[in-house]
Amino acid sequence: GPSYEKILELRKQFVTPSAIPFYRKPLLIHKGEMQFLYDHKGVKYLDMFAGIVTVSVGHCHPKVNAALEEQIKTLWHTTCIYMHPKVFEYSEKLASKLPGDLKVVYLTNSGSEANDLAILMSRLFTKNYDILTFKNAYHGGSTSTMGLTAQSTWHYPVPGLKNGIHHVMNPDPYTGIWGGSNCRDSPVQTNRKCDCTQGKCLAEDNYINQLESEFKYSLPRGKLAALFAESIQGVGGSVQFPRNYLKRAAEIVRAGGGLIVSDEVQTGFGRTGENYWGFENHGIVPDIVTMAKGIGNGFPLGAVVTTQKIAQVMTEAVHFNTFGGNPMACAVGKAVLDVIDEEKLQQNALDVGTYLLKGFEILREKYDIIGDVRGKVRFKVFLL
Ligand code: PMP
Repeated sequence: GPSYEKILELRKQFVTPSAIPFYRKPLLIHKGEMQFLYDHKGVKYLDMFAGIVTVSVGHCHPKVNAALEEQIKTLWHTTCIYMHPKVFEYSEKLASKLPGDLKVVYLTNSGSEANDLAILMSRLFTKNYDILTFKNAYHGGSTSTMGLTAQSTWHYPVPGLKNGIHHVMNPDPYTGIWGGSNCRDSPVQTNRKCDCTQGKCLAEDNYINQLESEFKYSLPRGKLAALFAESIQGVGGSVQFPRNYLKRAAEIVRAGGGLIVSDEVQTGFGRTGENYWGFENHGIVPDIVTMAKGIGNGFPLGAVVTTQKIAQVMTEAVHFNTFGGNPMACAVGKAVLDVIDEEKLQQNALDVGTYLLKGFEILREKYDIIGDVRGKVRFKVFLL
């Protein structure tokens, strides 16, 4: 293949400059094998980034590869104009992973597309227009999801992106104005001073008050379509919310007529250890769940799952997606679900996650350079 230098040249001439790779001398990756990557010189790396939190079961996992190879030999593409068995088998299996009435699956190619669809669904269902989301959120880079995404890094200065979208303070116990919650009831431990009184998380109460005052003073009354929430803010910096925040926020939003959309693009598929979905850690059942990244282990795949009742609004017009749910994506998606179960990867996430959090916590106490140790914490981990 072309040399490293030649590739840098090609990149400059023929590839979009909008995405910036890591490192001044970006890595050139030729091969992946489970948790390892290999560069052009054959140097082996432990991949802690997993292609932006996407390679959920391992690079080129043999079982996923086998499922894809089999499908490639049989059928690549039909669209929804014809039926093929894989989309139905896969949807049934995916739906079985979700609680309650969350049983109707729409397959897409990415997280942005999934969130686009969730915006549409929530607006159609509620007949409302306004959408709430959090500061520091990331929900995608399409024209409408860019409006939900609340970090200037991801925004181009073009008008119209934020139509009907309102950002409320994200309940960030690390750096927020009520930060520094080091209390025993909080999901986080930081170097900052404890804010709590008698085991009650002040940050949680303060952020809920903030949300309530948005409803009181700023938001259009009774016009809410949805709240979009990541159950841990991912791109925003692994922000864990105070323990009961989302549950209380969901009650407020539902009382205001809005649906709850849980963006599980980063937090789904067992990754948070204790539960299969991040929202389960918050004791809520959303109305719409969006997912991508880990769902396909690197294959372009995303999904929206909702209830039969909400899904009915999507019959008012034809909603069409050429590639969404193609046979190859479904074969991969099904194999990924199987591998997560067979290899007990959810339990593994809990074990390894807990081990790392404990280890980093010990280092944090020793070294000032470490600010926060962020991760999904079993609430009792630090109460040893
Ligand atoms: N939601 C979240 C929480 C994400 O982290 C991302 C991607 N970083 C997206 C949505 C958008 O997904 P995609 O890049 O597949 O469009």
